[in-house]
Amino acid sequence: MLEIARTLTNAGFETWCVGGAVRDALLGNVHLDWDLATAARPPEVQRLFKRTIPVGIKFGTVGVVDRTGRMHEVTTFRRDFNADGRHAEVEFGVSLHDDLARRDFTINAMAWDPIGHRLEDPFGGRADLERRVVRAVGDPDARFQEDRLRALRAIRFASRFGFEIDPATWGAIQRSAPHFGRLSAERVKQELDKTMEQVRRPSEALARWQSSGAFATLIPALHALPDRYRLACDAMAMPGLSTRPLRRTLRFAALFAGLPATTLRETLKALKFSNLETAAIVSLTGNWNELDHTISQRLVEQQRASHSAGLGIPDRDLRPWVAAIGRTRVAAFGRLTAAIWWADRTLGVAAPTALQARALHRRLLTIAFRDPIEIGDLALDGDDLRRLGVPPGPSLGRVLQQLLALVLEDPARNSVHVLSQEVARLTDV
Ligand code: ATP
Ligand code: MG
Repeated sequence: MLEIARTLTNAGFETWCVGGAVRDALLGNVHLDWDLATAARPPEVQRLFKRTIPVGIKFGTVGVVDRTGRMHEVTTFRRDFNADGRHAEVEFGVSLHDDLARRDFTINAMAWDPIGHRLEDPFGGRADLERRVVRAVGDPDARFQEDRLRALRAIRFASRFGFEIDPATWGAIQRSAPHFGRLSAERVKQELDKTMEQVRRPSEALARWQSSGAFATLIPALHALPDRYRLACDAMAMPGLSTRPLRRTLRFAALFAGLPATTLRETLKALKFSNLETAAIVSLTGNWNELDHTISQRLVEQQRASHSAGLGIPDRDLRPWVAAIGRTRVAAFGRLTAAIWWADRTLGVAAPTALQARALHRRLLTIAFRDPIEIGDLALDGDDLRRLGVPPGPSLGRVLQQLLALVLEDPARNSVHVLSQEVARLTDV
C-alpha cells in the first residue's frame, strides 16, 4: 500500500488512505484493506502500475495488484451529484475535502497520509470515535435523501462498534424508514448479510431495524417479532462456527424461525435469498417448528424430575427426529435449538438448559452418523424389492418408508434377512 502511495505521489498525484481502514486503525483494529484516494484519474493510475484491474472505472476505482498479489482499490477524488436516492453519478477533478464530504459518517470521512503521517479530519471523526458516536456528515436528512441505504449503514456501524447514534442522525433514520421501499432488494440483503457477518450481537442492530421502522417497511413479517428470535442471533458466536457463511445462515434461520412457512418463503423470495440459503433456512425453521414443542417440553419435564444427568430421552425416540432433520443438517439444527433456548433463558422463560442443549446436540449427531436413518441406509434397495416381487411404482416407495420406520424403531432390524421377511409380511396383506 505504501509503495503504491509513493508511486502516485512521486508522479505528482496527491494520495491518501481513506475509509474504513483509517477508522479501524484509530480504533486499534487491524484492517487489511487499505483503500487509497488520489488526484490521479483512472487512466493515469492504469498507466503507472503494471498489474491493474478495472474494478469500477466509471466510479473512478482501479484495483492495483501489489508484489504479493494483493489488490488495493485506488479511487480518484470524486463528488456525487444528481443523486436521486438510487442512481448517483460522479464527478472527478475535485479536492480531498470534497471527496471526504460525500462520505456517509464522520468516522468514515477521515484520510491518512501514509507518507507524511498526517490525519485529515474535517468533520470531527476522531472526536466521534472517542465519544463512540455515529454521526452523519452534514445534514442527516439531506444525506439520507441522497441514499437511503446510509440509514441502515448507520445502524450497522453503531451495533458493530457498540456506539450510540447521534440524536439528529437517529431522527433522520426514523424519518427515512418509510422510504426504504425504494432500496433494491440486493442492497437490503447485502446490508442484512453484513449485519449477520460483522456484528457480534446482531440483536442490537435488529432491535434498531425494528424501532426505526425499517422492518415495518422492508420486512413487515419481522416488525412484530417476539424478542427471542432476534436475541437468538447473538448466540451464534460460539467457537467452532468459524466459517462466516454458515454462521450467517444460522443467524437468519434463528431470525426467521418464528414465521409461518408461507410468509417465510415470500419473505426470502422478496429479499432475493439464494436458492441454497433459502433451502437451508426453510428446512431448519420447518424442523424447528415441528419439533420445538415436543423436544423442549420433554426436556423441561426432565429438569423437574432432575435425577438423571442425561437427556432422559431414549435413542428410539430421538431417531425419527434425526430422520426428519436429515444427516447433513443435524449439526446446524442443534445449534439453532441451543441458540433459541439460550434466548428464552436470557428472557426468563422456561427452556431446556445449556447442558441439555449440548447433550441433545451430541446425541443427535451420534445417531445421525451411526444409525440407519435414510432410505439409502436400508439393507434393501428398490431393486431388491422388485426382485422380491414388489411391483414398481408408488407402492414400492411406500414399502421402503415402512421398512425405514421399522428400522428407526430398532436399527438391529436393518439386515437383508429381517427386512426380506418384513417385505413378505407387508406385501402379503
Ligand atoms: P467495512 O469494514 O464494512 O468494509 P467500510 O467503512 O470500509 O467498512 P465500505 O462499505 O467498504 O465500508 O465503504 C468504504 C467507504 O466508502 C466508507 O468508509 C465510506 O467512507 C464510503 N461509503 C461507502 N458507502 C457509502 C454510502 N452509501 N454513502 C456514502 N459513503 C459511503
Ligand atoms: Mg470496506
